[in-house]
Amino acid sequence: MSRSAHPAGPRHADVLPEGHYSAPPADLNALDPKVWAQTVSRDDDGVLTVGGIPATRLAEEFGTPAYILDETDFRARARAWRTAFGADADVFYAGKAFLSRAVVRWLKEEGLNLDVCSGGELATALSAGMPAERIAFHGNNKSVEEITRAVEAGVGRIVLDSFQEIVRVAHIAQSLGRRQKAQIRITVGVEAHTHEFIATAHEDQKFGIPLAGGQAAEAVRRALQLDGLELIGIHSHIGSQIFDMSGFEVAAHRVVGLLRDIRDEHGVELPEIDLGGGLGIAYTSDDDPREPHEIAKALSEIVTRECESARLRTPRISVEPGRAIVGPTAFTLYEVGTVKPLEGLRTYVSVDGGMSDNIRTALYDAEYSVSLVSRASDAEPMRARVVGKHCESGDIVVKDAFLPADLAPGDLIAVPATGAYCRSMASNYNHVLRPPVVAVKDGEARVVVRRETEDDLLRLDVG
Ligand SMILES: *Cc1c(COP(=O)(O)O)cnc(C)c1O
Repeated sequence: MSRSAHPAGPRHADVLPEGHYSAPPADLNALDPKVWAQTVSRDDDGVLTVGGIPATRLAEEFGTPAYILDETDFRARARAWRTAFGADADVFYAGKAFLSRAVVRWLKEEGLNLDVCSGGELATALSAGMPAERIAFHGNNKSVEEITRAVEAGVGRIVLDSFQEIVRVAHIAQSLGRRQKAQIRITVGVEAHTHEFIATAHEDQKFGIPLAGGQAAEAVRRALQLDGLELIGIHSHIGSQIFDMSGFEVAAHRVVGLLRDIRDEHGVELPEIDLGGGLGIAYTSDDDPREPHEIAKALSEIVTRECESARLRTPRISVEPGRAIVGPTAFTLYEVGTVKPLEGLRTYVSVDGGMSDNIRTALYDAEYSVSLVSRASDAEPMRARVVGKHCESGDIVVKDAFLPADLAPGDLIAVPATGAYCRSMASNYNHVLRPPVVAVKDGEARVVVRRETEDDLLRLDVG
């Protein structure tokens, strides 16, 4: 049977992949507050506004594509995490999700700490005035130069990821006359992703030192002997985009088990545990993330209970949300360039960006939603796929979505929940210029990361 012989409709079930692409939403103009930043709504003309500014004006002033970041929402989420965890815990924002100097200042003002995992992130954090003692330095292969800079700056902790790094950091600290606070990152055999977790996962990954076979205990033994290190705790990070707390429960049980063994062997109660990040957000209306206060309550109950049964003092907890803070606060604003209906399949909508500003769909098969934002429309829903302008058929931004059938070149569409891992993973593929990040707040918009120019590209190409 040829596809073109069949009218649009019944045939779709055969050719479309499984997914949330089943029924069109009741109202295509509705902007689900679950996936859009806090101050987003539609004005009387049907135009999306954020921070009181219409998307059409943002496009005119800053061009497209652009990441539009709702500062009010960012601060509110950062504050909600801070408040939920209270004075007995620390919230480290994971800078890799998205880092800029403006973001560092907001975090500093809202009382959060910051995770960095490269010299570049460290430089950004320090240049925006984040106090070094509020910075944690991560990574599985920090260079000697990076470690030296971190120790000299006085970072609050370095998270040690291998036996070699334990010795390396200790030697560098000692040669600088310092005693560096450190945690050891372990893998507890728990792997969590979205709605599932595996409690007996293989520790077959590059991060951390396996608890299995006594390797983590051996790492602790060595770290405790080195004068250049002050071992303050154990670190565990189990995955990403997690909704179910049971993976954290198993992880906390195993981390506390190690703390108990350390006490029994060395007579030392380590004062801190870090349970990492990975808390999920809503990319589509199907996702139901938990609120920070629920997460805080669940985690502190789990740790308290485990410590009571191990007869340990409850350690200070830290967490490292990245996506859960910045993800929902931004959307990507695109202009539609072409609309190409493929009969019996779907309509391909090409935008002026693509995999260079959002690699997550191609890389992780991520789900996103999309809305027409420069106007409202009463047209019928149309099965659509939003694609970019790159020379690559996998250049997909939104796999499956419904957009109004009257969509036309020149319309603005926006993809919500692109605050995390989009700008930070952006590339120059096809020498496409990376979009700016525009922060909006209370009727004002300002560029916090400017758009790349061809001069920027050519400056690096020294011929
Ligand atoms: C990536 C990462 C995080 C943040 O993950 P999110 O999914 O953005 O919350 C936190 N801690 C560590 C060690 C990480 O590698």
